[in-house]
Amino acid sequence: MALPRLVPPAAGDPADTAVLRAEVRAFLAEQLAAGAFTPSVDAWLCGWSETFTGALAARGWLGMTVPKEYDGQGRSFLERFVVTEELLAGGAPVAAHWIADRQIVPALLKHGTEAQKREFLPAIAAGECFFGIGMSEPDSGSDLASVRTRAEQVDGGWRLTGTKVWTSGAHRAHAFIVLARTAPVDPQHRHAGLSQFIVRLDGPGVEVRPIVSMNGGHHFNEVVLDGAFVPDAMVFGEIGDGWRQVTSELSFERSGPERLLSTFTLLAAVTDDMANDRLSHDAGLGRLLARIAGLHQMSTAVAGALERKEPAEVAAAVVKVLGTTTEGDVADFADLRAGDRTGEASHQLITEAVDQRPGFTLRGGTNEVLRGVIARGLGLR
Ligand SMILES: Cc1cc2nc3c(=O)[nH]c(=O)nc-3n(C[C@H](O)[C@H](O)[C@H](O)COP(=O)(O)OP(=O)(O)OC[C@H]3O[C@@H](n4cnc5c(N)ncnc54)[C@H](O)[C@@H]3O)c2cc1C
Repeated sequence: MALPRLVPPAAGDPADTAVLRAEVRAFLAEQLAAGAFTPSVDAWLCGWSETFTGALAARGWLGMTVPKEYDGQGRSFLERFVVTEELLAGGAPVAAHWIADRQIVPALLKHGTEAQKREFLPAIAAGECFFGIGMSEPDSGSDLASVRTRAEQVDGGWRLTGTKVWTSGAHRAHAFIVLARTAPVDPQHRHAGLSQFIVRLDGPGVEVRPIVSMNGGHHFNEVVLDGAFVPDAMVFGEIGDGWRQVTSELSFERSGPERLLSTFTLLAAVTDDMANDRLSHDAGLGRLLARIAGLHQMSTAVAGALERKEPAEVAAAVVKVLGTTTEGDVADFADLRAGDRTGEASHQLITEAVDQRPGFTLRGGTNEVLRGVIARGLGLR
């Protein structure tokens, strides 16, 4: 039996994106020189700067895949990939728009009503509308079909009741997409009866409670929905089709360069330390760079598959397992080798990387669960 491809056919990194890449690098250098940001680890989750997001929007680097009729840039998925890769490699603060630009845009284009597209896409492309993800619950993470948040149909819409947790950025975002049960669980078809809703985070019946991390950072929240009213116009996609919609969103969530570059800025700092003899030379650095180079090719290939609208769920899972493991290995490598002569910038980045690393292999689906997805894709289970 021929095994399915784990990496889609390479679409390449076409030469014409080299100009775009250089433009982003020049922009980052300007922003750094102006003191607009300090490169940090995991900046796509923790680096919230609406000013920086606004500067990207002004350059046309938000909503790149949004069609022009919705005030987007009408550019390709690969061009967006190049821009995001450079921003991540530079440790730029991109968290404010990250979820909206990464997965709400393609989800809206696929499942949104015309009115939803007109309302949200131009605002996302302008860097003025931020989203969160309302999937996980206190007792539902890997097994998402077990979500207990329920939506009951009422006059003109739905009332949502339940608790979402680990909702990144909910205290600053405008809305989040909630996965809820609209029909009781059918043990024979556990994935049926789920639906998605666009829920405004400042509306009545919605309470955002902070969850502060051990290092004092605040990006997580618990969001309590207490009979929150969602009008019919904010049903996202089809009632009962939530599971299929969520799984198609996950390919966008799992395969991007943020699954391998969360600690790249630390890797660059360590490289600089070694080049300048602040750290003794270590061949392990080359191994990590080689892994990142291979992952860049794999992640680019998945971006090409998504552009061609080919299914990429299994390939995305492969990128995420290997990429997030590599990010964590960069943190360990730098932490174990740090010494008295390590640069000040590296010390700060190491602290951030060690703090953030437990989340790398959890968020967006744990590596254990993703190995199951890969095994199923290979016909092994
Ligand atoms: C930094 C970060 C940001 C996040 N942001 C968001 C967000 O914005 N919105 C959101 O909805 N969620 C978010 N999450 C939640 C994330 O999606 C869940 O943590 C993740 O899906 C795992 O769910 P859980 O924490 O409930 O763990 P569980 O599902 O309870 O898993 C516990 C352990 O059991 C293992 N396990 C579970 N099932 C299996 C299985 N079938 N086979 C093998 N092992 C298994 C897991 O791998 C894990 O090690 C975020 C998480 C992190 C760390």
